[in-house]
Amino acid sequence: MRPVVVNDALAAREAAHEAGLPYVTDAELSARLTASKRDPARVWLNDVSAVVLQQALADLNTAYRNFFASLKGGRTGPKMAKPRFRSRKDHRQAIRFTANARFKVLANGKLRLPKIGDMPVRWSRPLPSEPSSVTIVKDSAGRYFASFVVGTEPGTLPEGAPAVGIDLGLRHFAVLSNGRKIAAPQFLRRAERNLKRRQRDLSRKHKGSGNRDKARVKVARAHARVADARRDFHHQLSTRLIRENQAVAVEDLAVKALGRTRMAKSIHDAGWSGFVAMLEYKARLYGRQFHRIGRFTPTSQTCCLCGAKDGPKPLHVRAWQCGACGAWLDRDINAAVNVAKAAGLAVTACGAQVRPGAPSLAQRGEAGTHPKSH
Ligand SMILES: [Zn+2]
Repeated sequence: MRPVVVNDALAAREAAHEAGLPYVTDAELSARLTASKRDPARVWLNDVSAVVLQQALADLNTAYRNFFASLKGGRTGPKMAKPRFRSRKDHRQAIRFTANARFKVLANGKLRLPKIGDMPVRWSRPLPSEPSSVTIVKDSAGRYFASFVVGTEPGTLPEGAPAVGIDLGLRHFAVLSNGRKIAAPQFLRRAERNLKRRQRDLSRKHKGSGNRDKARVKVARAHARVADARRDFHHQLSTRLIRENQAVAVEDLAVKALGRTRMAKSIHDAGWSGFVAMLEYKARLYGRQFHRIGRFTPTSQTCCLCGAKDGPKPLHVRAWQCGACGAWLDRDINAAVNVAKAAGLAVTACGAQVRPGAPSLAQRGEAGTHPKSH
Protein backbone atom coordinates (compact mmCIF):
# COMPACT_ATOMS: atom_id res chain seq x y z
CA MET A 1 0.00 0.00 0.00
CA ARG A 2 2.83 2.31 0.85
CA PRO A 3 4.61 2.06 -2.51
CA VAL A 4 1.32 2.93 -4.23
CA VAL A 5 0.95 6.12 -2.21
CA VAL A 6 4.56 7.06 -2.75
CA ASN A 7 4.49 6.24 -6.46
CA ASP A 8 1.28 8.26 -6.97
CA ALA A 9 2.85 11.23 -5.22
CA LEU A 10 6.08 10.94 -7.20
CA ALA A 11 4.15 10.68 -10.45
CA ALA A 12 2.16 13.85 -9.57
CA ARG A 13 5.36 15.80 -8.94
CA GLU A 14 7.15 14.55 -12.03
CA ALA A 15 4.15 15.22 -14.28
CA ALA A 16 3.92 18.79 -12.97
CA HIS A 17 7.63 19.28 -13.51
CA GLU A 18 7.47 17.98 -17.09
CA ALA A 19 4.48 20.22 -17.91
CA GLY A 20 6.38 23.24 -16.56
CA LEU A 21 3.87 23.61 -13.70
CA PRO A 22 4.87 24.69 -10.19
CA TYR A 23 6.15 22.16 -7.67
CA VAL A 24 3.32 20.16 -6.10
CA THR A 25 3.31 21.12 -2.43
CA ASP A 26 3.08 18.72 0.48
CA ALA A 27 -0.43 19.98 1.33
CA GLU A 28 -1.54 19.47 -2.28
CA LEU A 29 -0.25 15.88 -2.25
CA SER A 30 -2.10 15.21 0.97
CA ALA A 31 -5.33 16.57 -0.53
CA ARG A 32 -4.82 14.43 -3.63
CA LEU A 33 -4.32 11.37 -1.47
CA THR A 34 -7.66 12.01 0.24
CA ALA A 35 -9.32 12.51 -3.15
CA SER A 36 -7.75 9.36 -4.58
CA LYS A 37 -9.62 7.27 -2.04
CA ARG A 38 -12.76 7.91 -4.15
CA ASP A 39 -11.02 6.57 -7.26
CA PRO A 40 -12.38 3.03 -7.87
CA ALA A 41 -8.82 1.79 -8.52
CA ARG A 42 -7.67 3.18 -5.19
CA VAL A 43 -10.73 2.54 -3.07
CA TRP A 44 -8.84 -0.03 -1.01
CA LEU A 45 -6.79 2.81 0.46
CA ASN A 46 -9.76 3.39 2.77
CA ASP A 47 -8.88 0.14 4.49
CA VAL A 48 -5.52 1.51 5.51
CA SER A 49 -5.05 3.75 8.51
CA ALA A 50 -4.94 7.36 7.28
CA VAL A 51 -2.04 8.14 9.58
CA VAL A 52 0.04 5.44 7.89
CA LEU A 53 -0.69 6.89 4.44
CA GLN A 54 0.18 10.38 5.60
CA GLN A 55 3.33 8.96 7.13
CA ALA A 56 4.34 7.52 3.74
CA LEU A 57 3.86 10.98 2.23
CA ALA A 58 5.77 12.66 5.04
CA ASP A 59 8.70 10.29 4.48
CA LEU A 60 8.65 11.08 0.77
CA ASN A 61 8.59 14.83 1.50
CA THR A 62 11.59 14.44 3.78
CA ALA A 63 13.40 12.59 0.99
CA TYR A 64 12.59 15.46 -1.41
CA ARG A 65 13.74 18.14 1.03
CA ASN A 66 17.03 16.31 1.61
CA PHE A 67 17.46 16.01 -2.14
CA PHE A 68 16.86 19.75 -2.72
CA ALA A 69 19.03 20.74 0.23
CA SER A 70 21.89 18.63 -1.10
CA LEU A 71 21.51 20.29 -4.55
CA LYS A 72 21.84 23.70 -2.93
CA GLY A 73 24.73 22.51 -0.82
CA GLY A 74 22.71 23.27 2.30
CA ARG A 75 23.08 19.79 3.63
CA THR A 76 26.24 18.24 4.98
CA GLY A 77 27.06 14.64 4.23
CA PRO A 78 26.77 12.68 1.02
CA LYS A 79 24.75 13.92 -1.97
CA MET A 80 21.22 12.59 -1.86
CA ALA A 81 19.68 10.87 -4.83
CA LYS A 82 16.32 12.00 -6.14
CA PRO A 83 13.47 9.93 -4.65
CA ARG A 84 12.70 7.01 -6.91
CA PHE A 85 9.69 4.96 -7.80
CA ARG A 86 9.35 1.90 -5.61
CA SER A 87 9.97 -1.29 -7.49
CA ARG A 88 7.23 -3.87 -7.76
CA LYS A 89 9.95 -6.49 -7.61
CA ASP A 90 11.01 -5.45 -4.15
CA HIS A 91 9.04 -7.93 -2.09
CA ARG A 92 9.84 -6.30 1.20
CA GLN A 93 7.08 -4.09 2.51
CA ALA A 94 7.12 -1.84 5.50
CA ILE A 95 4.66 0.43 7.24
CA ARG A 96 5.37 2.67 10.17
CA PHE A 97 2.92 3.66 12.90
CA THR A 98 3.86 6.62 15.05
CA ALA A 99 2.34 7.29 18.46
CA ASN A 100 -0.49 9.40 17.03
CA ALA A 101 -1.54 6.43 14.89
CA ARG A 102 -2.74 5.02 18.22
CA PHE A 103 -1.10 1.62 18.00
CA LYS A 104 -1.03 -0.19 21.31
CA VAL A 105 0.74 -3.07 22.99
CA LEU A 106 -1.99 -4.92 24.87
CA ALA A 107 -1.69 -6.57 28.25
CA ASN A 108 -2.11 -10.00 26.59
CA GLY A 109 1.01 -9.37 24.49
CA LYS A 110 -0.84 -8.68 21.25
CA LEU A 111 -0.15 -5.62 19.16
CA ARG A 112 -3.20 -3.49 18.26
CA LEU A 113 -2.80 -1.73 14.92
CA PRO A 114 -5.33 0.81 13.62
CA LYS A 115 -7.62 -0.66 10.93
CA ILE A 116 -5.72 -3.95 11.05
CA GLY A 117 -6.62 -5.37 14.43
CA ASP A 118 -4.95 -7.26 17.27
CA MET A 119 -1.92 -9.15 16.03
CA PRO A 120 -0.34 -11.99 18.01
CA VAL A 121 3.36 -11.29 18.53
CA ARG A 122 6.26 -13.59 19.30
CA TRP A 123 8.36 -11.22 21.39
CA SER A 124 12.12 -11.55 20.99
CA ARG A 125 12.71 -9.38 24.06
CA PRO A 126 10.59 -7.36 26.47
CA LEU A 127 10.06 -3.66 25.71
CA PRO A 128 12.09 -1.59 28.18
CA SER A 129 9.66 1.33 27.96
CA GLU A 130 6.68 2.74 26.08
CA PRO A 131 7.49 2.63 22.32
CA SER A 132 7.12 5.85 20.31
CA SER A 133 6.65 4.09 16.99
CA VAL A 134 6.46 0.65 15.46
CA THR A 135 7.47 -0.47 11.97
CA ILE A 136 5.91 -3.60 10.54
CA VAL A 137 8.10 -5.23 7.92
CA LYS A 138 7.15 -8.09 5.65
CA ASP A 139 10.32 -9.69 4.34
CA SER A 140 10.77 -11.51 1.06
CA ALA A 141 10.18 -14.82 2.83
CA GLY A 142 6.68 -13.61 3.73
CA ARG A 143 7.32 -13.16 7.44
CA TYR A 144 6.19 -10.16 9.45
CA PHE A 145 8.39 -8.34 11.94
CA ALA A 146 7.52 -5.55 14.33
CA SER A 147 10.33 -3.25 15.31
CA PHE A 148 9.73 -0.69 18.05
CA VAL A 149 11.45 2.59 18.72
CA VAL A 150 11.93 3.01 22.46
CA GLY A 151 13.90 5.46 24.53
CA THR A 152 16.25 3.71 26.93
CA GLU A 153 18.60 4.70 29.67
CA PRO A 154 21.88 2.86 29.18
CA GLY A 155 22.38 0.53 32.12
CA THR A 156 25.40 0.87 34.31
CA LEU A 157 28.16 -1.65 33.87
CA PRO A 158 30.84 -2.66 36.33
CA GLU A 159 33.83 -0.34 36.30
CA GLY A 160 37.44 -1.40 36.14
CA ALA A 161 36.81 -4.37 33.87
CA PRO A 162 39.76 -5.55 31.78
CA ALA A 163 40.61 -4.63 28.19
CA VAL A 164 40.53 -7.13 25.35
CA GLY A 165 41.85 -7.46 21.81
CA ILE A 166 39.74 -9.40 19.32
CA ASP A 167 40.97 -11.27 16.27
CA LEU A 168 38.17 -12.18 13.87
CA GLY A 169 38.96 -15.34 11.98
CA LEU A 170 37.77 -18.12 9.75
CA ARG A 171 38.55 -21.07 12.01
CA HIS A 172 37.01 -19.39 15.00
CA PHE A 173 34.60 -16.53 14.76
CA ALA A 174 36.66 -14.60 17.28
CA VAL A 175 39.79 -15.17 19.33
CA LEU A 176 40.38 -12.99 22.36
CA SER A 177 43.66 -11.74 23.72
CA ASN A 178 42.87 -13.52 26.99
CA GLY A 179 43.15 -16.81 25.10
CA ARG A 180 39.44 -17.53 24.63
CA LYS A 181 38.41 -18.90 21.25
CA ILE A 182 34.79 -18.42 20.24
CA ALA A 183 33.27 -20.58 17.53
CA ALA A 184 30.03 -19.84 15.76
CA PRO A 185 27.30 -21.43 17.90
CA GLN A 186 25.58 -24.68 17.01
CA PHE A 187 22.27 -23.00 16.05
CA LEU A 188 24.01 -20.81 13.49
CA ARG A 189 25.99 -23.67 11.95
CA ARG A 190 22.82 -25.75 11.75
CA ALA A 191 21.01 -22.92 9.95
CA GLU A 192 23.94 -22.56 7.54
CA ARG A 193 23.96 -26.30 6.80
CA ASN A 194 20.23 -26.17 6.16
CA LEU A 195 20.69 -23.27 3.74
CA LYS A 196 23.34 -25.19 1.80
CA ARG A 197 21.05 -28.20 1.52
CA ARG A 198 18.14 -26.06 0.29
CA GLN A 199 20.35 -24.38 -2.28
CA ARG A 200 21.48 -27.78 -3.53
CA ASP A 201 17.85 -28.91 -3.81
CA LEU A 202 16.98 -25.78 -5.75
CA SER A 203 19.79 -26.26 -8.26
CA ARG A 204 18.46 -29.74 -9.06
CA LYS A 205 14.92 -28.58 -9.89
CA HIS A 206 13.92 -27.91 -13.49
CA LYS A 207 13.47 -24.31 -14.53
CA GLY A 208 9.85 -23.24 -14.68
CA SER A 209 8.57 -26.18 -12.63
CA GLY A 210 6.28 -25.75 -9.65
CA ASN A 211 8.76 -27.67 -7.51
CA ARG A 212 11.39 -25.10 -8.36
CA ASP A 213 9.15 -22.31 -7.06
CA LYS A 214 8.62 -24.22 -3.84
CA ALA A 215 12.35 -24.84 -3.50
CA ARG A 216 13.01 -21.16 -4.07
CA VAL A 217 10.72 -20.18 -1.20
CA LYS A 218 12.52 -22.70 1.02
CA VAL A 219 15.88 -21.18 0.09
CA ALA A 220 14.57 -17.68 0.92
CA ARG A 221 13.33 -18.93 4.31
CA ALA A 222 16.63 -20.67 5.03
CA HIS A 223 18.50 -17.50 4.08
CA ALA A 224 16.36 -15.48 6.46
CA ARG A 225 16.94 -17.99 9.26
CA VAL A 226 20.71 -17.81 8.79
CA ALA A 227 20.58 -14.01 8.89
CA ASP A 228 18.46 -14.11 12.07
CA ALA A 229 20.69 -16.67 13.77
CA ARG A 230 23.80 -14.73 12.86
CA ARG A 231 22.32 -11.48 14.16
CA ASP A 232 21.30 -13.16 17.43
CA PHE A 233 24.77 -14.56 17.88
CA HIS A 234 26.38 -11.18 17.13
CA HIS A 235 24.08 -9.50 19.63
CA GLN A 236 24.83 -12.01 22.37
CA LEU A 237 28.58 -11.94 21.83
CA SER A 238 28.91 -8.16 21.42
CA THR A 239 26.84 -7.52 24.54
CA ARG A 240 28.94 -9.95 26.52
CA LEU A 241 32.25 -8.48 25.34
CA ILE A 242 31.12 -4.92 26.11
CA ARG A 243 29.80 -5.99 29.53
CA GLU A 244 32.96 -7.82 30.50
CA ASN A 245 35.51 -5.31 29.22
CA GLN A 246 36.33 -1.68 29.77
CA ALA A 247 37.92 -1.41 26.32
CA VAL A 248 37.79 -3.51 23.17
CA ALA A 249 40.02 -3.37 20.12
CA VAL A 250 39.44 -5.01 16.74
CA GLU A 251 41.41 -5.02 13.55
CA ASP A 252 40.04 -2.98 10.67
CA LEU A 253 38.30 -5.42 8.34
CA ALA A 254 40.20 -4.11 5.32
CA VAL A 255 43.23 -5.83 6.80
CA LYS A 256 41.40 -9.11 7.05
CA ALA A 257 40.42 -8.91 3.41
CA LEU A 258 44.01 -9.39 2.31
CA GLY A 259 45.03 -12.80 1.16
CA ARG A 260 41.60 -14.36 0.88
CA THR A 261 39.46 -15.48 -2.00
CA ARG A 262 36.61 -13.25 -3.05
CA MET A 263 34.10 -15.89 -2.01
CA ALA A 264 35.37 -16.29 1.53
CA LYS A 265 35.72 -12.53 1.80
CA SER A 266 32.13 -11.77 0.87
CA ILE A 267 30.70 -14.38 3.23
CA HIS A 268 32.78 -13.52 6.23
CA ASP A 269 33.07 -9.79 5.83
CA ALA A 270 29.29 -9.58 5.77
CA GLY A 271 29.14 -11.22 9.16
CA TRP A 272 32.10 -9.36 10.62
CA SER A 273 31.09 -5.84 9.68
CA GLY A 274 27.69 -6.29 11.32
CA PHE A 275 29.34 -7.61 14.45
CA VAL A 276 31.93 -4.82 14.60
CA ALA A 277 29.19 -2.21 14.12
CA MET A 278 27.33 -3.69 17.12
CA LEU A 279 30.49 -3.60 19.24
CA GLU A 280 31.01 0.03 18.31
CA TYR A 281 27.52 1.29 19.12
CA LYS A 282 27.25 -0.75 22.30
CA ALA A 283 30.60 0.61 23.46
CA ARG A 284 29.27 4.13 22.91
CA LEU A 285 26.00 3.27 24.62
CA TYR A 286 27.69 1.87 27.71
CA GLY A 287 30.62 4.26 27.93
CA ARG A 288 33.27 1.72 26.93
CA GLN A 289 36.31 2.39 24.76
CA PHE A 290 36.23 1.06 21.22
CA HIS A 291 39.38 0.90 19.09
CA ARG A 292 39.73 -0.04 15.46
CA ILE A 293 43.27 -0.90 14.44
CA GLY A 294 44.17 0.44 11.04
CA ARG A 295 45.67 -1.12 7.96
CA PHE A 296 49.17 -2.50 7.68
CA THR A 297 49.56 -3.45 11.33
CA PRO A 298 51.34 -6.77 10.93
CA THR A 299 49.50 -8.57 13.72
CA SER A 300 50.70 -12.01 12.72
CA GLN A 301 54.30 -11.02 12.11
CA THR A 302 55.16 -9.65 15.51
CA CYS A 303 55.80 -11.59 18.69
CA CYS A 304 53.28 -10.27 21.21
CA LEU A 305 55.69 -10.90 24.08
CA CYS A 306 58.99 -9.38 22.97
CA GLY A 307 57.90 -7.40 19.89
CA ALA A 308 60.36 -9.11 17.50
CA LYS A 309 59.17 -9.05 13.86
CA ASP A 310 59.97 -12.23 12.00
CA GLY A 311 57.98 -11.78 8.79
CA PRO A 312 54.82 -13.25 7.28
CA LYS A 313 53.92 -16.89 7.80
CA PRO A 314 51.73 -19.03 5.55
CA LEU A 315 48.18 -19.54 6.84
CA HIS A 316 48.69 -23.21 7.69
CA VAL A 317 51.26 -22.24 10.31
CA ARG A 318 49.06 -22.01 13.40
CA ALA A 319 51.78 -21.83 16.03
CA TRP A 320 55.47 -21.08 16.06
CA GLN A 321 58.34 -20.34 18.34
CA CYS A 322 59.62 -16.78 18.47
CA GLY A 323 63.21 -16.77 17.26
CA ALA A 324 64.11 -13.89 19.54
CA CYS A 325 62.61 -14.76 22.93
CA GLY A 326 61.80 -18.45 22.45
CA ALA A 327 58.08 -18.12 23.33
CA TRP A 328 55.57 -20.44 21.67
CA LEU A 329 52.92 -18.35 19.97
CA ASP A 330 49.41 -19.34 18.92
CA ARG A 331 48.72 -17.48 15.67
CA ASP A 332 45.23 -16.20 16.56
CA ILE A 333 45.88 -15.33 20.18
CA ASN A 334 49.15 -13.64 19.25
CA ALA A 335 47.19 -11.54 16.74
CA ALA A 336 44.50 -10.66 19.30
CA VAL A 337 47.13 -9.52 21.81
CA ASN A 338 48.84 -7.44 19.12
CA VAL A 339 45.52 -5.81 18.19
CA ALA A 340 45.02 -4.81 21.83
CA LYS A 341 48.59 -3.53 22.13
CA ALA A 342 48.31 -1.53 18.91
CA ALA A 343 45.30 0.21 20.49
CA GLY A 344 47.44 1.05 23.50
CA LEU A 345 45.52 -1.32 25.76
CA ALA A 346 47.25 -3.06 28.60
CA VAL A 347 46.43 -6.74 28.26
CA THR A 348 48.05 -9.62 29.99
CA ALA A 349 49.55 -11.87 27.38
CA CYS A 350 47.56 -15.02 27.64
CA GLY A 351 49.46 -17.34 29.95
CA ALA A 352 48.08 -20.63 28.70
CA GLN A 353 48.65 -20.50 24.95
CA VAL A 354 51.49 -18.06 24.61
CA ARG A 355 54.29 -19.05 26.88
CA PRO A 356 58.01 -19.19 26.88
CA GLY A 357 59.61 -22.42 25.85
CA ALA A 358 56.69 -24.91 25.48
CA PRO A 359 54.49 -25.74 22.49
CA SER A 360 50.86 -24.73 22.79
CA LEU A 361 48.16 -27.28 23.49
CA ALA A 362 45.63 -25.17 21.64
CA GLN A 363 47.07 -25.94 18.24
CA ARG A 364 46.05 -29.58 18.48
CA GLY A 365 42.41 -29.03 19.28
CA GLU A 366 42.01 -26.35 16.70
CA ALA A 367 41.68 -28.34 13.50
CA GLY A 368 39.10 -30.70 14.96
CA THR A 369 36.62 -29.66 17.62
CA HIS A 370 35.76 -26.14 18.56
CA PRO A 371 35.12 -25.17 22.14
CA LYS A 372 31.50 -24.33 22.85
CA SER A 373 31.03 -20.60 22.83
CA HIS A 374 28.39 -20.47 25.52
ZN1 LIG B 1 59.33 -13.02 21.15
